[in-house]
Amino acid sequence: MTNKLKYFVGNWKMFGDFSSIKIINQINQFCSNFKKKGIKSKVIVCVPHTLIYPFVTKLKNKLVTIGAQNCHHHNGVGAFTGSINSSMIRKSGARYIILGHSENRSSGDTNKLINKKIDASLREKLNVIFCIGENLHHKREGKTFSVLRKQINSSIDKKFNLNRIIIAYEPIWSIGTGKVPKTNELIKIFKFIKDEYKRNFKLKRFPIVLYGGSVNDTNIQQFSLIPEIDGFLIGGASQSSKKFIDIIKNYYK
Ligand code: PEP
Repeated sequence: MTNKLKYFVGNWKMFGDFSSIKIINQINQFCSNFKKKGIKSKVIVCVPHTLIYPFVTKLKNKLVTIGAQNCHHHNGVGAFTGSINSSMIRKSGARYIILGHSENRSSGDTNKLINKKIDASLREKLNVIFCIGENLHHKREGKTFSVLRKQINSSIDKKFNLNRIIIAYEPIWSIGTGKVPKTNELIKIFKFIKDEYKRNFKLKRFPIVLYGGSVNDTNIQQFSLIPEIDGFLIGGASQSSKKFIDIIKNYYK
């Protein structure tokens, strides 16, 4: 159930400008030192669309992989003012894309729309970081598992290239709030997601599942004790190279 390679994914949200390459360079330098110690980790930073191409072209040794945060569900060109499709994102140099983030679900992304976005992104050979998670109301009503099951089953098709999909479990009540689930809750939820996904899609191996929601350099030590967690999707703290690097360092302490 445990995947050895650990993922640390930054989600910059609506943050950053061209000068923020220095944050990426610092993280990249840290990764280079870390690699020499033989630690197996994959570091991805998902930036605003405007920063993908300049960062990909300026980054020296590409130990940090650049990703995107969303795309339009339509695959080709069209009358969609202000939108960007998965092909444009791929051509800009991104290799990963976050889809189904709760901040986008709250502004209109339904499971069906997310399904189309995943399809469009996989067609462009982007790796998808597919976010799922319950809100506080679902949690209090004991509906967490049924919500997660529905999000998975109505957005993922059996015909998709499932090797390119990483799941990020992000309880909505935990994003940006400083609140995190208890260890025993997380273990149950991760086992549920992995079993459900493997059985439903008849996979030979368990999927990669990340945790996201108020991860910081202190609570990462609690999470590091849970082997079912294959990595982290980190929002606010990824906007600072120090905070992001400290999270990775403390995970391996
Ligand atoms: C996120 O944006 O996906 C996230 C988890 O944010 P934060 O780490 O700030 O809670």
